[in-house]
Amino acid sequence: MISKVETVIRQIQEGSEEPVCAYLYDLAGIQEQVRQMLQHMPQHTSLFYAIKANPDPRIIEALLPWVKGFEVASIGELLKVRRISVQVPILFGGPGKKEAELEQALEHRVTLLHVESLLELRRLIAIAKRKKQVASILLRINLRSSTLPRTKIVMGGGPSPFGLDEEWVEQAIQIIREEGAGAVHLRGFHFHSLSNNTDARLHAEMIDLYLNKVKAWQDAYGIQVDVVNAGGGFGVTYDGSPGFDWPLFTSLLKQSEARKQLDGVQLYFEPGRILVADHGYYATEVTDIKVSHGEQFAVIRGGTHHNRLPASWGHNHPFHVMATEHWAHSYARPEVKQSEVHIVGELCTPKDRMHSNAEVELLRVGDIVVFEKSGAYCWTISHHDFLGHPHPAFHYLTEGNDHVNSDEAFQSASR
Ligand SMILES: *Cc1c(COP(=O)(O)O)cnc(C)c1O
Repeated sequence: MISKVETVIRQIQEGSEEPVCAYLYDLAGIQEQVRQMLQHMPQHTSLFYAIKANPDPRIIEALLPWVKGFEVASIGELLKVRRISVQVPILFGGPGKKEAELEQALEHRVTLLHVESLLELRRLIAIAKRKKQVASILLRINLRSSTLPRTKIVMGGGPSPFGLDEEWVEQAIQIIREEGAGAVHLRGFHFHSLSNNTDARLHAEMIDLYLNKVKAWQDAYGIQVDVVNAGGGFGVTYDGSPGFDWPLFTSLLKQSEARKQLDGVQLYFEPGRILVADHGYYATEVTDIKVSHGEQFAVIRGGTHHNRLPASWGHNHPFHVMATEHWAHSYARPEVKQSEVHIVGELCTPKDRMHSNAEVELLRVGDIVVFEKSGAYCWTISHHDFLGHPHPAFHYLTEGNDHVNSDEAFQSASR
């Protein structure tokens, strides 16, 4: 795989006078990964893609034939999906949905709305009545349990702006019965309690907990649901340790007693990171190398304004070096040899650091640093215009090894 990626990066380098600064998304790799994940999944389970991990239109398009649908958290995201498909199922979640957003969600035929508060429920009922439409909903629940796994980003199990605490389930159902008849249809429940969990066993236990809760609510409140959305949060590692074991997770799911008890209920997953993280590469050329107070710094053309994940999480981002032999200048070429170097960006802030104390065999000005695992929450969470440097180019690897650049991608995305 790396060699295919490197071939394209070399083409990018040879095609321009400017230092390399580009994202490369391996669309065929994403598709192949999803294909493999689907092979392991039990019956009555479905995969949606949470586009906030990477809303690039080419990625949405590449995933369209493979996933059941997409999860969005704003009208902006919703329109990105609708531009690519007018009928693909969409799940619409996120806190603080405004009236106009709920109206547009109904107009764009969102499949399921994730209701995140009692006010939102009443707001939606009023809008659906006014529009004489029935809104299909899942109630997003924030469980009380301290048994939820702990990860870097915890979205539930404690105080949180996401969803309804489980104490409010009864009242929500009462509102739906008394005020929502003919306006909302409660299809089920939604949970998304954490992000980047790498423990497959813990994840399976958490899903059992969700399913047991749903069973208990069905019995207690005399309701019948047909969907449980168990969220995303399947982890990816950035330090070389093993990532999420999908085959183990799905085999545990197949054996789950809790799932058997909810016969006929569809179980949805809406991951973002695990589908795309490994298939994005951020390639940047070294523009300067210097020693300061005894430590070596390599400055790249790019940085955290394009890939904020390492600064956001405080981690060293994995990379490899692509050597460039050509040096056209009469003056000396700075280098780091068999030593440690900090890889930093071109911004005037000490936070612009991609990797501290990286051990390198040889790194020279003009070499290319390729940051791997840059497909999820990298470009999309970054402050692109801080300091006004040019944006990276975007390139895509598709099946059959041909690659397309961003101009063609733009045309394709705006079809
Ligand atoms: C962010 C988010 C996801 C995707 O999370 P990943 O950690 O990328 O899998 C899914 N559902 C909701 C509600 C989210 O907020």
